[in-house]
Amino acid sequence: CLETGNRIYTATPEPTEHPCFSPDGHGRAGRIHLAVAAECNISCNYCVRKYDCANESRPGVTSKLIGAEEAIRVVQEAKLSSLGAYLHVAGIAGPGEPLANPETFATLALLKDKFPEMKRCLSSNGLLLPEKLPELLALGLSHITVTLNTLDTPSALQIYGYVRWQGQTLIGRPAVTMLLENQLLGIEQAVRAGLHVKVNTVVIPGINDTRLTVLAREIKQRGVEIHNLLPLIPQGKFALRPAPRPADMHHYRQELGRVLPQMSHCRQCQADAIGLV
Ligand code: SF4
Ligand code: SF4
Repeated sequence: CLETGNRIYTATPEPTEHPCFSPDGHGRAGRIHLAVAAECNISCNYCVRKYDCANESRPGVTSKLIGAEEAIRVVQEAKLSSLGAYLHVAGIAGPGEPLANPETFATLALLKDKFPEMKRCLSSNGLLLPEKLPELLALGLSHITVTLNTLDTPSALQIYGYVRWQGQTLIGRPAVTMLLENQLLGIEQAVRAGLHVKVNTVVIPGINDTRLTVLAREIKQRGVEIHNLLPLIPQGKFALRPAPRPADMHHYRQELGRVLPQMSHCRQCQADAIGLV
């Protein structure tokens, strides 16, 4: 739900019934994550690929990868379970980057056909969002989460190892310039196209924690509905970096809550999570 310490923004323009986009959905609406996206097209230094995508997941729990057909069977079974009545949202959140995997689009097409009443959502690092947006709209996507950790090139250089773009592996400045430009453009275009857009930001002490308000203002200007600050989980190349303290996270959410609604109930779910949030 939204940060309660600041009442400037109390609700999204219309109830989305998505547990992660609206206070109305929290505790009443459920979601099912379908782990169909294996590959990733960038390298975040906090990611360990044998775990799920750190952008929308909890490390240490390895998901079983499934294909589009199996994903539909998983939804069918979940709908028949005791949670079935609450499951209004089907999403793709990894374990890699959904937009870099054809299986994502096959799954969305089947979901549209078999479960047209369910909302379809996904999370993305944003690199391919401008390119894939028309296809996502045609498949009836309603919600998207973009992980945007920084708008600053020096910070981005510390966070990202490489970016794969049109068959080439970019490193350094060209890599992060490509990523940051596409993230912002994709967010802007997705909002304009009428999608519900959330931004996730992994808070990394010493790298992006001093410029969070500037980032929040930029995404607010672009029409992002809700912001989700995630504490760094020290792992991978960032295994020795400190995680932000809970008190710091609380402070950041209070501060940024003056700019746009902050999500405070994210559970950093794994890529195959099912149930209420
Ligand atoms: Fe890992 Fe997700 Fe970053 Fe890809 S986008 S490197 S899967 S955290
Ligand atoms: Fe919602 Fe966070 Fe779980 Fe994604 S990871 S489904 S945003 S609670």
